[in-house]
Amino acid sequence: MERLVLGLVAAVVTAEPHGAGRPLPQRVTGAVRAFARDPILRRVVAVGALGAGLGAVVVLAMPGRDSVLAGTGVPMAWLVPGLVVLTCLAEITVVRLRHGEAVEELTLYEAALVIDVLLLPPRHALLAAVAGLVLASLVQRRPAVKAAFNLGTYTAAVSVLILLVHVIGGTAGTMTARVLAGVVAGTLAFTAVNLCCLAQILGFINEVPPWTVIRSEARLSVYMAVGTMATGLTTTVVALHAPLLLPFMAMPALAVTYAYRAAAREADERARSACLLQLSHALAEREDVVRQFLVLVREAFDADLGFIAVSGNGSALSADATEPSAVRAGPLPDYLVPWRDVEAPVQLTEDLPPGLRHVVVVPVEGGGSRQGTAAFASRRRRRMSTGDVTLLASLGSALAVAMRGAEHLERLTEERSKLQAVVEQSAEGIMVVGAGGLVQVWNQALADIAGTSAADAAGRPVGDLLEVPAEEERELLLPVTVDVPRVATELTVRRSDGEERRLRLAHSAIFAGGELVRDVVVISDLTREYRTERLKSDFIAMVSHELRTPLTPIMGYIDLLRTRGERMTPQKRLDALTLIGDRAAHLSRLVEDLLLASRFGDNPDEASLQVNVATHDLVAIVRQAVEDLRTDRVELTLPEDPWPARCDNGRTVQVLTNLIGNGLKYSAQDRTVEVSLRRDERFLHVDVRDHGRGIPSDSLEKVFEKFHRVEDPMTMSTSGTGLGLFIARRLARAMGGDVTLESTVNVGSRFTLSLPAEGPEDPGPWS
Ligand code: ADP
Repeated sequence: MERLVLGLVAAVVTAEPHGAGRPLPQRVTGAVRAFARDPILRRVVAVGALGAGLGAVVVLAMPGRDSVLAGTGVPMAWLVPGLVVLTCLAEITVVRLRHGEAVEELTLYEAALVIDVLLLPPRHALLAAVAGLVLASLVQRRPAVKAAFNLGTYTAAVSVLILLVHVIGGTAGTMTARVLAGVVAGTLAFTAVNLCCLAQILGFINEVPPWTVIRSEARLSVYMAVGTMATGLTTTVVALHAPLLLPFMAMPALAVTYAYRAAAREADERARSACLLQLSHALAEREDVVRQFLVLVREAFDADLGFIAVSGNGSALSADATEPSAVRAGPLPDYLVPWRDVEAPVQLTEDLPPGLRHVVVVPVEGGGSRQGTAAFASRRRRRMSTGDVTLLASLGSALAVAMRGAEHLERLTEERSKLQAVVEQSAEGIMVVGAGGLVQVWNQALADIAGTSAADAAGRPVGDLLEVPAEEERELLLPVTVDVPRVATELTVRRSDGEERRLRLAHSAIFAGGELVRDVVVISDLTREYRTERLKSDFIAMVSHELRTPLTPIMGYIDLLRTRGERMTPQKRLDALTLIGDRAAHLSRLVEDLLLASRFGDNPDEASLQVNVATHDLVAIVRQAVEDLRTDRVELTLPEDPWPARCDNGRTVQVLTNLIGNGLKYSAQDRTVEVSLRRDERFLHVDVRDHGRGIPSDSLEKVFEKFHRVEDPMTMSTSGTGLGLFIARRLARAMGGDVTLESTVNVGSRFTLSLPAEGPEDPGPWS
């Protein structure tokens, strides 16, 4: 904003220099145009009226007054046109002044005004000032509103200058102190009027109070007034008394002009370097390169318009000096279409739209690939130097290379994200271990297997994340070596929650200079298969043991009967045959259990077994089951009267035999098993309580699973198949009841068979 204010001050206070192509004056023009319709126009009209009024005062109040420094000897018919031309040239002549980062462009208009006022009578001085300004506006084709505003402002200001010089200085004819005082007062008044008019319009455009503009610009305006006044005064005096010295008067001004121009050029170069540096960063970072290129190169080369048409893309991007950081998409302008495929830089000066003076078109081509075409257009007369065109062409190739790089990067990023998705969505665990055994990648599947999230795993040693309980398996965790970089191992690891998992790790490692660079490990969770495998071998061990156990006495007794049967007493023979019968019955139960178990699916609620449910006396069934067991260790507490239950008679005996048999089997020989009955509204319950070893709490549900035994099957301290409870519960549920369990280790267990009581209507299935 400050730069805009200063630019406007430079452009309007000191009269518009030939700054066509400079962004700031253009902004003024654009802004004045945009606002001309209403409030701006009012201000222009007000300033015009002020100028006309004060001019009229000069014309009417000072008829026939002579000039303050009369006597140049030049006739008025030559002097007036000569000074009009001088005033016009002074308005067009620009001195570039640097202050801070900004460059102000000043004209010598005020100096010429001082000369006009001193050498010409008031009316002629006013005429020369106004005519010189109008001429300069016409030569430079200034916009009408801006020219009118300038004219009003300067007419008002110069009228005040003329009035004060003549009122204070009188018509002395020589440079007296009064004349000097008049010039000083007049110049300051000129500056004040000028600044006030300008503040009105600048304050409005920038939405600040006019007073703010006056305060910020007053000092600069006074300095300029003093400078131009001194130039005007001394030039006048030298012209009057020693005209030959006039060329020497111009020399300091020329020296200063050149010094300022050099400084301005340097500032331009610095600004360009800053832009190019920024561009080099943008190209190196490969982010949004085309847009950045367009904005920064247009600024670096001070072009009014910039375009880039990317190959294979119908539209083009454009940037405009009026909105320096904005980039728009649209079609390539018609005048550039024929140059779309140029192979070398060209500078166009013909067939351009009005206002544009020249356009440089460069191919965006580098590293063997054509990426498009860039063009930069200027409204200024000065063409781009060959050096600048060459630089632009190099920047074009740099852009092409960066675009290619960006394309590669994009493709790479895409590939990477695809790969990441594959790793993340893989059902197998995947980890990448870097140097020092530190985890670099840890996917979601592995997080589920190991119970450690990817965020927690990153950067930690793999040994900390996958604990290997078995010492002999420890080195299997990272077994790769330079000689064996690809290897698959199987090991058991313990998760942080204590659960053990059997894993298969397939390693594929890369080494450099004998050091591990990366080991990509695909991890499969074999726990299920491992358990099934174990279960299978346990099952085979169990079945063969269970079958062999009754077979041994059967075969022994058969052998005895065959060889010594005739010599045995009838009682002994009967005992042997009874034992063979018992063992054979046991074998038959075993086989039936296996068959039954194979007929049940894994879903415990599935009723895949046909049971013949009818009303039976549960008291009689319990007696029958206990009798079948032929033991005196059962303590029965039964009601006298029958308790009718809905059940399958044979299956209920089978379930109870199993529950009571287990109670006997898993408690000491001298402990009894208590069997009693309870009932509630809908069910009859048979409780089988023992005082044996009990069942650990984590196995309370598992004992109902197929083949599950609390004992280690390898030690086989008690025989069994792990099928009894599984079958008992399935049968109970098939009859609309259930088997439940309460147990305390080393205290005892209570198994309960619940069956639906007979009711007015059949009870529904157990739920
Ligand atoms: P098994 O043929 O092994 O007895 P079950 O299915 O009847 O098969 O029982 C499964 C496991 O439950 C047994 O191996 C035993 O560990 C445990 N179990 C069953 N009943 C009792 C009990 N009364 N006391 C202690 N443990 C029991």
